[in-house]
Amino acid sequence: MTTKKSRGVKASKYVYLFGTGKLTEGDAAMKNLLGGKGANLAEMCRLGLPVPAGFTITTECCVDYFKNRMKFPSVLKAQVEAALAKTEQQMGMKFGDPKNPLLVSCRSGARKSMPGMMETVLNVGLCTRTIPGLVAKTKNERFVYDSYRRLIMMYSDVVMEKAEGVEPAEGKGIRVQLDGMLQEMKKSKGYQKDTDLTTDDLKKLCDDFKTRVRVVLGKEFPDEPMAQLWGGVSAVFKSWNGRRAIAYRKIEGIPDDWGTAVNVQSMVFGNMGENSATGVAFSRNPATGEHKFYGEWLVNAQGEDVVAGIRTPSPLNEATKSEHNASLPSLEKAMPKVYIELDNIQKKLEKHYKDMQDIEFTIQEGKLYMLQCRVGKRTGTAALNMAMDMIGEKLIKESEAVMRLAPAQLDELLHPIVDPNAEKSVKVLAKGLPAGPGGACGQIVFTAAAAVEWAKQGKRVILVREETNPEDIEGMRAAEGILTARGGMTSHAALVARGWGKCCIVGAGSIHVDSVCKKMTIGDVVLSEGAFVTLNGTKGYVYDGQLAMISASENPRFKKFMAIVDKFRKLGVRANADTPSDAQKAREFGAEGIGLFRTEHMFYGKGSDQPLFILRKMILSSTPEERRKALDELFPFVKASIKATLEAMEGLPVTIRLLDPPLHEFVPESTEKQEELARSLGISAENVRSRGEQLHESNPMMGHRGVRLGITYPEITEMQLRAIFEAAGELLKAGKKCHPEIMIPVTCDVRELKDQKVIACRVYDEVLGKLNLRSIPHMYGTMIEIPRACLLANKMAEEAQFFSFGTNDLSQMGFGFSRDDIGGFMPDYLNKKIIPADPFQTIDQEGIGQLIEMAVKKGRGTRKDLKIGICGEQGGDPASVEFCFKTGLNYVSCSPFRVPIARLAAAQAAIGAGRKN
Ligand code: ADP
Ligand code: MG
Ligand code: MG
Repeated sequence: MTTKKSRGVKASKYVYLFGTGKLTEGDAAMKNLLGGKGANLAEMCRLGLPVPAGFTITTECCVDYFKNRMKFPSVLKAQVEAALAKTEQQMGMKFGDPKNPLLVSCRSGARKSMPGMMETVLNVGLCTRTIPGLVAKTKNERFVYDSYRRLIMMYSDVVMEKAEGVEPAEGKGIRVQLDGMLQEMKKSKGYQKDTDLTTDDLKKLCDDFKTRVRVVLGKEFPDEPMAQLWGGVSAVFKSWNGRRAIAYRKIEGIPDDWGTAVNVQSMVFGNMGENSATGVAFSRNPATGEHKFYGEWLVNAQGEDVVAGIRTPSPLNEATKSEHNASLPSLEKAMPKVYIELDNIQKKLEKHYKDMQDIEFTIQEGKLYMLQCRVGKRTGTAALNMAMDMIGEKLIKESEAVMRLAPAQLDELLHPIVDPNAEKSVKVLAKGLPAGPGGACGQIVFTAAAAVEWAKQGKRVILVREETNPEDIEGMRAAEGILTARGGMTSHAALVARGWGKCCIVGAGSIHVDSVCKKMTIGDVVLSEGAFVTLNGTKGYVYDGQLAMISASENPRFKKFMAIVDKFRKLGVRANADTPSDAQKAREFGAEGIGLFRTEHMFYGKGSDQPLFILRKMILSSTPEERRKALDELFPFVKASIKATLEAMEGLPVTIRLLDPPLHEFVPESTEKQEELARSLGISAENVRSRGEQLHESNPMMGHRGVRLGITYPEITEMQLRAIFEAAGELLKAGKKCHPEIMIPVTCDVRELKDQKVIACRVYDEVLGKLNLRSIPHMYGTMIEIPRACLLANKMAEEAQFFSFGTNDLSQMGFGFSRDDIGGFMPDYLNKKIIPADPFQTIDQEGIGQLIEMAVKKGRGTRKDLKIGICGEQGGDPASVEFCFKTGLNYVSCSPFRVPIARLAAAQAAIGAGRKN
């Protein structure tokens, strides 16, 4: 395998051409090898679009480069030289030629886009030898030196500093220093814009830059085109393992071993004067989904200027002008012919890819070039609107529309927004661009580090920056919302926030940010670190103080979408709910039943005083008579609670779990409560204390709990069963429907189920007699949460009509990880990649998954129609839902607000499985 390759027995093809006609070797399907950018550049060439020629060095080459201790494979040089020659031919220029020099860019591009996380170097090939030729050819000396100063800035930063692992102090990086020199020059000359700099200014800057580079980095800026090219290529490879890229991958779950490709592409120039420009655009609005061509452009500028937020970009067309950029000229008006061409291209691309496109373009002296296209990131709202629109336009089928929303994006749709009523009564503090929707409220901080720190302390923060850059990524993640003073809808902050569905406002120009003194000023309002602000990311409004939030209102489009989702779904979705109001919420979210009703719920929280008091009496009873008396008192509470929830579910199944937690959890600790109990039981407070102590267990999670209580105290089981049957029977008699499922927890042997079933049968008959009923529909089953129960599932199924996997306990006991104590080691396990994910959040398919598969197979071997579900928290996790579908479960059950997520994940699993077959 690889050894063969490195010995050169079978030399790898590391380089793929793209350009005109048949020359292009890649296509859109080759993302893994060529990276997203390279694959799509090739695809655009195949579509006949104007793309500057070049070649892609593969991700495989990057992987081999790292394996080889950062040395290029030996065959690479010849392959690059050959590809460069072909590129030169197509462009009619020569790299490094004194008369007719070709310049190139070295662009990163991984399988999945990682916006701004890796490096790109433009204008590679400019040097003492090639400058005069380019000046003569373009007759534009200013442009040449503008390009040169950009090369020096980018190259010294990316290749000479970052790639070399130099870690300058905060604000002392070479790029910041050079940018400072540029700003100083502008200031001393009284210029407003970069474009005011004259040729002589730029020449002087280039000289000064090179001197500064030598002084700071101790190396000469390379003056040889080939040296620049290889420096650029290796720097792009190395940027795959840059700190920011690694942090981003961790958040996004991108594997470390994919590597990045490098695209070496002929330069075209948007900075050649007033009829040159550069821009980025979306075929639909990425924040709202509105079907309008949407984007930003800058005249006389080079690519990254738009994204960097250095100048406020202009709108692409008249239809999408906003109050923030209304005064700026649109491309549609300024260059109508080019605009029409671009508009046609975006339509063609959308039709071809059948999805919203994010494109980058450059206009060189009136000629349009396409530099990138990819499926655009979007907010949850936009994803929903686009999917529904595209069905209407017959661009995609319903099944495809279902796949277009990530389950996590639904979460965002259900996210809180600022209460519109609260908004009416306050003044807007500042306005910016609505880059990420929803509302956010929190305390302001001015650095990413502070955001991380404060969030750790449990505070909700709003990260305020002049503009964000990739170094802020962790702080952006930690913040509730992001606010920047500069930048447009395609700025870094906007892109990242959109990807995460995070509330974000950019380009709030009236805000003056002073991150050194940790304050921001808006007119005469000064807010210091820690002050509260509220953001409305949907409108782009900033408010002083804390405004009320409400949950996003019932969106009819969302409902329609979910109806389509349910057409494809095969797996049932239930909710874990303990009260009629939770049950109601669960049904609104589309739950088809309750997968877990915890009986003990009535002993916690509001209104629990009385039942809890009686429960305590029961627990501390010392004789069966005492206990029976307490149970009789408890009975009406349990029955009422069960009855209300059964009624709320109107005949949908409700799985009622019998008392599960260890009893000592309920023993009163305060002396006051102990005395009250003592009075009621007619014993001394000391006696209460000592009985409580007797209940102490050294390992209560594995102690006297669940079915074990019912085994030692059958009267506890009996009371609960009577409550269930009577509640159900009374509802039936009142003409209502209900369907209880009795679930025995913490079982490990079928004999436990047999033992409890004797009680169930007896009580059932008694209740039928009492209520004069023929039958009460119900089921008898068990929770599967102990590994032994999985091993013996064939036996368990002899008595159980259904299984419900309690994956919280099953993971706890399968791993031997105490759920309540994982805080101490789980972070290290995750950081060191000993396990890929927290098994209490997503099912460990590799290990615990085997137990589940075994139990399903064995259980159904005994009882073909065994109904099987899952009620652990993992039931709302998309990956776990897919696993449950594949394993043949009948339903998943999760907390009510995750029900829509589970429904979508289940539909996607079904569609995905259909596609594979
Ligand atoms: P990123 O992945 O961060 O977007 P890119 O490789 O796309 O980085 O480069 C950033 C910008 O640089 C592009 O949007 C484009 O405008 C400009 N650029 C890259 N290559 C070229 C080129 N060959 N000619 C002109 N501009 C380029
Ligand atoms: Mg790009
Ligand atoms: Mg349990």
